[in-house]
Amino acid sequence: AMRLILPLFVFGMLINQIQRSEASARRIRELLAQKPTRDENPHARVLQQAPQRIEFENVSFAYPGRERTITNVTFSMEPGQMIGVVGPTGAGKSTLVKLLLRYYQPDSGRILVDSSPMRAIDMESFRRQVGYVSQDAFLFFGSVAENIALGAPDSTRKAIERAAEIAGAHEFITALPQGYDTPVGERGLKLSGGQRQRISLARAVLRDPPILVLDEATSAVDTRTEALIQENLRAFRNRRMTLAVAHRLSTVRASDSILVLVDGVVVENGDHESLLAQNGAYANLWAVQSGEAVADDNTVS
Ligand code: ATP
Repeated sequence: AMRLILPLFVFGMLINQIQRSEASARRIRELLAQKPTRDENPHARVLQQAPQRIEFENVSFAYPGRERTITNVTFSMEPGQMIGVVGPTGAGKSTLVKLLLRYYQPDSGRILVDSSPMRAIDMESFRRQVGYVSQDAFLFFGSVAENIALGAPDSTRKAIERAAEIAGAHEFITALPQGYDTPVGERGLKLSGGQRQRISLARAVLRDPPILVLDEATSAVDTRTEALIQENLRAFRNRRMTLAVAHRLSTVRASDSILVLVDGVVVENGDHESLLAQNGAYANLWAVQSGEAVADDNTVS
């Protein structure tokens, strides 16, 4: 279901792939059909520049006909900041992302972009500012390089490789039969979930978006490789806003602020150290998961 959040621009570029692959074409039609109804506002302001501040102000939301999923969520993001969102399955983490990407509107509360209500801003122009990486990476039939360059088709090979390095993908790509020219996606070489995720991350890195949204973007990558990617991303995050959703706490550890979401409510909020000091839900999860990470690393080595 998270595929529906692929930024709209992607569709335009994917259309070029239709001639190349009937299967891809079918997939695109499916994606387009899934897209929830959008809210059209003829007076919407086109966003000309990267936003300097995004705020969730007491945002609550329920899917139509369902119980409330998000209750009174408040946080803000500025360039250079990373906001992490953790919480058990079903807590509403992906729903927060869908609200940010405007697939749904809050029932109450507001999402503000540079102090303007989100709905007063042209949706396409907002989404152009966003690089979104989901757990479920979408690869079309084409070479690895073409897949990475999906959002930035004029990129040089060097820039593509640089993005792949940051995303922790360069090494395995160069080991593929034809390296960056290896065909992947439908009819191409089958890649593992973790490899597809890293290609998808490289794609976002190459686009260089002012707002980076990572929804379980490295969930299928082993903890060691992930630590490496986190290290690489640190410099990349520099001047952009990053919203990172994860089960694995180490993924969001470096965040300026981590929202601990339980049943749609932010029960704790702070950076890693302060959350540990609170000795609450986050600290408990951390104790459990760092034990697992040690076990995991032992099996890897
Ligand atoms: P996970 O970690 O398992 O991805 P999450 O924290 O991201 O979980 P959400 O995917 O945001 O949780 O889901 C929150 C709640 O909303 C769940 O109870 C889910 O069943 C429900 N939900 C999600 N998407 C929809 C939808 N399109 N329609 C109705 N209910 C939905």
